[in-house]
Amino acid sequence: SAMRIGGGSVVGYSSMLQTLSLARLDMETDLRHALEREELELFYQPQLDLPTGRLSGFEALVRWRRSGRLVSPADFIPIAEESGLIIPIGDWILEEACRQARRWNEPNMHQGLPVTVAVNLSMRQFRKTQFIESIEQSLRRSEVNPTHIELELTESAAMHNPDQVLQLLQRLRGMGLALAIDDFGTGYSSLAYLQRFPLDKLKIDQSFVRELSRGDDAAAKRNAENIVRAMITLGHQLNLRVIAEGVETEEQMHQLVQLGCDAIQGYLYGRPVPAVMAQEFLLRERLSHLARHDATLLSG
Ligand code: C2E
Ligand code: MG
Ligand code: MG
Ligand code: MG
Repeated sequence: SAMRIGGGSVVGYSSMLQTLSLARLDMETDLRHALEREELELFYQPQLDLPTGRLSGFEALVRWRRSGRLVSPADFIPIAEESGLIIPIGDWILEEACRQARRWNEPNMHQGLPVTVAVNLSMRQFRKTQFIESIEQSLRRSEVNPTHIELELTESAAMHNPDQVLQLLQRLRGMGLALAIDDFGTGYSSLAYLQRFPLDKLKIDQSFVRELSRGDDAAAKRNAENIVRAMITLGHQLNLRVIAEGVETEEQMHQLVQLGCDAIQGYLYGRPVPAVMAQEFLLRERLSHLARHDATLLSG
């Protein structure tokens, strides 16, 4: 009967939990060594400025090569957060991204087309006491121009103790860094704080972009368009640039152009790739920019 099965499954359930927490512990142990073993790597995903059709920047997305396999940050960032490992890992990410931004904006590579590198911050990293100092250290050591670095904070992290966040954001802005709210629309924003935060950009979460292409349901699609339009209007009223995440199809891109979105990021324009590949993308972009510029000079 159900009773008997129920009795047995209690044991099964707890041993399953045990296996899960062992796997988690195992991952934590390995993660502890990931930095010294140089198993972490930043991938870069390009962002497209819609009005100009040009590359505007890259978002740095961390990857962990754990015994030959790529582990998604969605799986290990939470463990890094709970264990406190996010602090050294976050410092490494910041400095690595700053060095890359510095290299990609060197005067001889620049060709009139600067790029920003966006870095994700976790809540725990953002709230540690020495946070501002570690940012200062990354900026100083890498000698990057701070205007080439953008920090991304998720909406839910930003709205958690927003008075403290406001102070931190003001200091970061004072250092010349650009600031973006990530996963916008998935948390609960206080409009009062959204207005007071010294931000540059809103990133519309990819769940809204996905809803735009509901070919099966015209009403759902219209709803999605209305919501995205409202988010873009809100962003523009607050003097922010609005970028949509997770754009996979041309149809979504055209809808976003129609809705007045400023930029897109997603598999359509480019997947997250290792730094060498991102650099090739950047060079091609700069060459075609140069070619266009020369053509204008010649014809003028
Ligand atoms: P996020 O910052 O919102 O990053 C966007 C995620 O969407 C990335 O997943 C990216 O690979 C994925 N993505 C981009 N374009 C598309 C698309 O067209 N379709 C679909 N389906 N997905 C797309 P990823 O790299 O797995 O990262 C997941 C999350 O992990 C990030 O979300 C961010 O919250 C966190 N994360 C990633 N790198 C870091 C990091 O360096 N530090 C911290 N603290 N968190 C990070
Ligand atoms: Mg992000
Ligand atoms: Mg996001
Ligand atoms: Mg996300």
